[in-house]
Order: sequence, then structure tokens, then C-alpha cells
Amino acid sequence: MSDLYAVIGNPIGHTKSPLIHGLFAEETRQDLSYTAIEGPQEPQGAFAETVRAFIANGGKGMNVTAPFKLQAFAMADERSERAELAGAVNAMKFEGGRIIAENFDGIGLVRDIEVNLGFPMAGKRVLMLGAGGAARGALLPFLAAGPQEMVIVNRDVEKAKALAARIEGRGPLLACAYGDLEAMGRFDLVVNATSASLTGELPSVPPSVFSPEGAAYELAYGKRLTPFLRLARNAGVRIIADGVGMLVEQAAEAFDWWRGVRPETRTAIDRLTVPLD
Ligand code: NDP
Repeated sequence: MSDLYAVIGNPIGHTKSPLIHGLFAEETRQDLSYTAIEGPQEPQGAFAETVRAFIANGGKGMNVTAPFKLQAFAMADERSERAELAGAVNAMKFEGGRIIAENFDGIGLVRDIEVNLGFPMAGKRVLMLGAGGAARGALLPFLAAGPQEMVIVNRDVEKAKALAARIEGRGPLLACAYGDLEAMGRFDLVVNATSASLTGELPSVPPSVFSPEGAAYELAYGKRLTPFLRLARNAGVRIIADGVGMLVEQAAEAFDWWRGVRPETRTAIDRLTVPLD
């Protein structure tokens, strides 16, 4: 029987993970089956029961998507530092009766920016909008990339400050409010890690933060030119991208972690890319 993997979320109909992992398995000749599971949101404990039933059925690993990343965190026996800091889990491995948990969102994002877009972050000024799960997952991998300075901004500024305080000493990280941005000059890379684009909204970011020689990255994907990307383009930003590459790269990290073989990602990215215009 093929080794069993799945992605769990609710809703789950939109997921691209079975397609991505199917392409990876084909390319690397791995014998596995990867399905999508709509996890139960209630009663309390039903999510954990679903995961345990999957393990009892022989499941080897799972990706976790909204709204279960925190519940997956809570039920894990072991967590990576990245998952600890993010307070959220997007991949699990089941080994010897234990649940080992990871968060590859941030590392997938860094890989997409540095490798696929060819924009190394070392020595750059980086601005991250948002302090939710995706931003939290990205902070350590971003700081590890060696930016000159990293600024995190959030509507609820206390959330951004608490996050910066949690990783004090790990790199040049500063938290501030949107109102402070006007005075902060240009950033080489601006990342929209808010969920504003999911409802067609624009975070209150001034165009003065963008640098024409720099890059703007939108974590949401498949939404074409979001208000954030439009603002960046109008400011003349050279590289603009949405989160499809991040999605595929985090999947590749999980695949490598589970199977010990790294798939190439270009085919899946090309397959899933929705042109911005
Ligand atoms: P969360 O719900 O955890 O966090 C949402 C964040 O967005 C908060 O910081 C919130 O600020 C902010 N926000 C929401 N609306 C607005 C607004 N109108 N203006 C300014 N800020 C706003 O979401 P996630 O971190 O999980 O997801 C964020 C985005 O990343 C989503 O678009 C999601 O689809 C995308 N994503 C993409 C992935 C990929 O693989 N490409 C993977 C994971 C996420 P406040 O705290 O003040 O409310």
C-alpha cells in the first residue's frame, strides 16, 4: 500500500496541496497517496480525533491549513523552534506514535523570494505588514537571511510589539504602527502578510515605503493584482509577486522532511500561477 499523507482544513475544497504533492511524487518517483480532509470545527476535540484516526489508519504525515494551525500546535508532542515561535503548525509527521510538528510557511516564503525571484535579503531593509500567523512564521527565517533592518507593522500595534519582544536579540527587528511609516523612508522589500487582500482591502501603507529597485510580495495568491500589488506597481517597484511560489516552496520543504528527497518546484509553480494582469 502507498504511504498515506493528507492536508486538513475547513473549508478544504480550494486546496492545491494534493495537486502539488502529486506532482512532487511523480517527479521523485515516491509511492504515496495524498488526499484532502475536511476537518470538523466542532465539537471540541473533534479535530484531534480526526488526526488520530488518520494516524491509526497508517497516515505518515499531514499538512494543516486554516483554521486548524493552532489546534495542530496544541496536540503536537514535539515542535520545531519555528513552529514554537509562530505558535502555529502547518506540517506534521507521525513517527513511533509521536506527532512531530513544523511550520514551513516562513522558510517557503524566504526561498521563493531569494531563489525564485532572485532577490537576496542580506543587507536589505525589509518591511512586513501584519502580525498574524503567517507573519509570525516568517520572522525567524527572515532574520536568518541577514537583512540590514526589519520592521513589522500591524493595525493592532501591541501585537507587533509583543512579537518583536519575543524574539529580541535574534536580529535587527523593530515594531511600529502604520502611522509611523511615512517617516521611515524606503524599504527594499515590502511583504504584505495581512489578510486584507482576501477581502479586496488595502492596509494603510503609504506609497513612500516602496523602492523602485526593490520588491513587493503579496502572500495571498490567485487574486491577480491586489490593491497592495497595484500600489507597488504604481510606485514603480521592479519585482512584484504573489504567494503561489511560497505555497509550493513550503510544500517542497514538507515533502523533503517526510520523504528525504527534495522535489523541483518550477513545474508546480508554473502550473498554479495565475497571471497578475
Ligand atoms: P491571520 O488571520 O493570522 O492574520 C491576519 C493579519 O492581517 C493580522 O495581522 C491583521 O491585523 C491583518 N489584517 C487583516 N485585515 C487587515 C486590513 N484591512 N488592514 C491591515 N491589516 C489587516 O492570517 P494569516 O497570517 O494566517 O494569513 C495572512 C495572509 O497570508 C492571508 O492572505 C493568507 O491567505 C496568506 N497566506 C499565504 C500562504 C501561502 O502559502 N502563500 C500561507 C499562509 C498564509 P490585526 O492583528 O490588526 O487584526
